[in-house]
Amino acid sequence: MNLNDKINDIAAMLYGKSIKECDTKELYNVCSKLAVMNVSKDWDATRNSEMKKCGYISAEFLIGRLIYANLYNAGLLEDVKKALKSNGIDINVFEEVEDAALGNGGLGRLAACFLESAATVEVPLDGYGLRYHFGLFKQSFLNGFQNEEADDWLKWGDPFSVCRDSESQIVEFADMKVLAVPYDMPVIGYDSKVVNTLRLWEARPVESFDFKLFDDMKGVEKAISNNKAYEITNVLYPNDNTLEGKILRLRQEYFMVSATMQDFLAKYKKKGYPFSEISEHQIFQLNDTHPVLAIPELIRLLILEGLSFEEALVIARKTFNFTNHTIMGEALERWNSDLLYKYIPEVYKVIVMLEESLRKEVKFDAKYYIINNQEVHMANLAIYVSSRVNGVAKIHTDILKNDTFKKWYMLYPDKFVNVTNGVTPRRWLALNNEALSKEITKLIGNGWVKHLDKLDEIDSYANNKAFKESFKKCRAKNKELLSDYIYKHEGIRIPTNFIFDIQIKRLHEYKRQLMNALSILYIYAGLKKGVITNFKPTAFIFGAKSAPGYYMAKCIIKLINTIADLVNNDPEMDKLMKVVFVSNYNVSYAERLVCAADFSEQISMAGMEASGTGNMKFMINGTPTLGTLDGANVEIAQEAGRENNYIFGLTVGEVNELKKNYNPRKYLEMDPLLNEVVESLVDGSLDDNGSGAFKAIYHSLLDGDRADYYLCLADFASYIEAKLLANNEYGTDKYYTMCIHNTAKSGKFSSDRSINDYNERIWHLK
Ligand SMILES: *Cc1c(COP(=O)(O)O)cnc(C)c1O
Repeated sequence: MNLNDKINDIAAMLYGKSIKECDTKELYNVCSKLAVMNVSKDWDATRNSEMKKCGYISAEFLIGRLIYANLYNAGLLEDVKKALKSNGIDINVFEEVEDAALGNGGLGRLAACFLESAATVEVPLDGYGLRYHFGLFKQSFLNGFQNEEADDWLKWGDPFSVCRDSESQIVEFADMKVLAVPYDMPVIGYDSKVVNTLRLWEARPVESFDFKLFDDMKGVEKAISNNKAYEITNVLYPNDNTLEGKILRLRQEYFMVSATMQDFLAKYKKKGYPFSEISEHQIFQLNDTHPVLAIPELIRLLILEGLSFEEALVIARKTFNFTNHTIMGEALERWNSDLLYKYIPEVYKVIVMLEESLRKEVKFDAKYYIINNQEVHMANLAIYVSSRVNGVAKIHTDILKNDTFKKWYMLYPDKFVNVTNGVTPRRWLALNNEALSKEITKLIGNGWVKHLDKLDEIDSYANNKAFKESFKKCRAKNKELLSDYIYKHEGIRIPTNFIFDIQIKRLHEYKRQLMNALSILYIYAGLKKGVITNFKPTAFIFGAKSAPGYYMAKCIIKLINTIADLVNNDPEMDKLMKVVFVSNYNVSYAERLVCAADFSEQISMAGMEASGTGNMKFMINGTPTLGTLDGANVEIAQEAGRENNYIFGLTVGEVNELKKNYNPRKYLEMDPLLNEVVESLVDGSLDDNGSGAFKAIYHSLLDGDRADYYLCLADFASYIEAKLLANNEYGTDKYYTMCIHNTAKSGKFSSDRSINDYNERIWHLK
C-alpha cells in the first residue's frame, strides 16, 4: 500500500474523513499513528525480548515535539512530507503542535535525549516517569513580569501513547490507595530495530478499577480520595534545581517508584527466575534523587515476598545506580522523617533498617548518616545502596569525589564514575539545522547522523574557502528564519546582519543572566559615552523560565525586559543593539535558537553548572562558546581547542579562594562605569513599575553575607573583555574557521556516546 492510502486509511479509521478534510490536530494524530504502526512489530519484539534491560527512572522527561523526530527516525519524514504535499498540505503545519513539556530543563531534556540515543544505539533502556496532566507552565510577559499559564498539552491528543490499563498497579499511602495506570510510548531510534518504551504513570482513584476496595471506604473519604488521587499527577513541579519539601511532591515520587517497582516485580515473578538474580535481568538508573525511594520500595516488596532484609539489600545494591546532577544545597533532597513516617510508614521502616546497617558499616560516623536531625538525606541513601554513582561532566565528578561526597568516595572509591552528558544529534543538528546538515552530508555523507565522531572529517575544511562560504550562508539562513519567528511571536524585529548573542536556559542566579544583563547596560553606556568603539551591532537574546516562587529570578526577568525596552526604543541604538527576551522558551524554541546563534553564552560561576547540555547544542551547530570553565564547557574547550572559544573568568579553585574573603564593592571602585551601571538599578533610571525588583537585585549584589554570591562583579571585567573580543572577531575569516572547528570536534557530545559510556561503565547490557 502506498503511503497516501495508508494515511487516508488511518484518517478514515480515526475520524471518518480523508486527510484533505482533516484539521491540524487530526493530521497530527494521523501521522503520529502512522509512525507508531510502522514500528509496532519491532516494539513488540523489544518489549518481549528476554535480554537484560535498564529502567531509567526520572520525574521528568522533557520530550518536546515528537512528530518530526519520530517520523525522521522511522525513516518516514521525507515520504510523509511528499504525501502531505500531494494533498496540498505543508508538513510545517505541525509547528503548531505544542511541546510536551513534562520536565523543567536540562535534567528532563537529558532523559529524553538518552532514551532516543539508547534506542538508536540499540541499548535496551526503558523510561519510567509520571504522566503529568499539565506540563511546565506556559510563560508570557505582563509589563515585563513573568506570567504563568497552565500547559494543557493533551489538548492535541496523545497519539504516541497507548494506555495499557491491564497493567495498572495500586499504590498505597497510609491515608489512601491510588491506581497507577501506565501509558506507554514507543521510543523510536534512528535507523534501528530496537524500539524501547517510555512508561508514564497516571494517577486515578481506585474506584475506577476496584469497586470492592472502594466500597470499604465511607462517602466523604471516597470524595477526598477521588480528588487527591487525580491531584498526584495533575501538575509538574515547576522548580529547577530547588527542593520543595511538600507532601504532594512526596506522593508523586513514591507513586512513580512504587508503581514502577511493583510492575517490574510482577513481571519478573511470572518469568520464574530467582530473586537473587534480579540484577542479571533488570537494573535501574535513578535520575537524581527524585526516584531514590525506589530503593527502599524494592526492598520492602522483596521482604513481602519472604526475603530477609539482608538478602533484599544485597539485591538492591546490585540493581540500582544513581546519577547526581547538582551540588547545590538547595536542590539536595531531604525529607522530614515524620512526614515519611506519616504517609509511607512501611517504606520509612525500611529506611530505618538501612540506616542501622549503614551505621554499623561506617562505625557510627555521623557524616554518612541517611537519617540525621529528623531528616532523611536522599543522596546518602542513594550512594549507600547504589552500585555506581556518577557525575555528569569531568569537573563535576571531580567535585563530587573531592568535595561534596568526599567521605563517600573514601569509603567506596570504585563506586564513583563519570559519564559526561550529551545531546541527540538527530534533534539538535539533523532536524533543527536543515541547511548545515545538507552541507555536511554533501561533504562527508550522512554517516555522522549515527556516528557523530565522523564530523571530525569536516575539520580539514575549516580553512576551505568554499565550505566556509556555505557555512556562513547556512548561519545567515537560520538567522533569517529566527528573526522572522521572533518578529511574529515577540513583535521585535532583529536585523539579520546583527550578531546573535544568545543565552537560553532556566533563569537561575548561578547561571548569571544578571551578569549578562549588567554587561548589556555597560556596553550601552559605553557606546553612549563613546568609550566603547568599533562595536559590531549585536542582538542580545534571552530565553528562560523562572520557577514561579523564585523571587530573585523573577526580578531579573523584569530587569532584562526593562533593558530591552530602554535599548530598543533608543534611536541612537537602532543600528547598534537590540535586546529580546523571547517568551515561553521551550525545546522547540531552542531548536530554532541554537542553529542561529553567533555566540553561546555559558557563563555560570565555576563549580555550579554540573554539566550543561545547552552548551553542547550550540557547539554541534558550530557556535563558539563565550563561557567560564564550568561543567562541560571545560570539555568543549578541550575538544574544540580553547582558541576556538572565548573562555574567561575565575576557575573553581579561584572561586573557592576568593569566597573566603569576598568584597563585591571593590570591583565597583575599580571600574566607575560598572559602578554607574549598578547604581542605575536604584537611581531612577530604570523603572520597575514600583515593584522594588531592581532594589532587590541591587541589595543581592552588595549587601549581607551572601552579597554577590555568584560573583557577577568579580568576573565582570574578564567577561566584558571576552565579550568585546568576540564582538571584534565576529564575521572575520578566523571567526568562521572557529565555528567549523566547533562542529567538527563536537562528536563527543552526542548522547549516543553518553549511552555507550553508561553501558560500558555501569549497565553492561547485551
Ligand atoms: C537543553 C535545554 C535546557 C538545558 O539548558 P542548559 O543551558 O544546559 O541549562 C533547558 N531547557 C530546554 C528547553 C532545553 O532544550
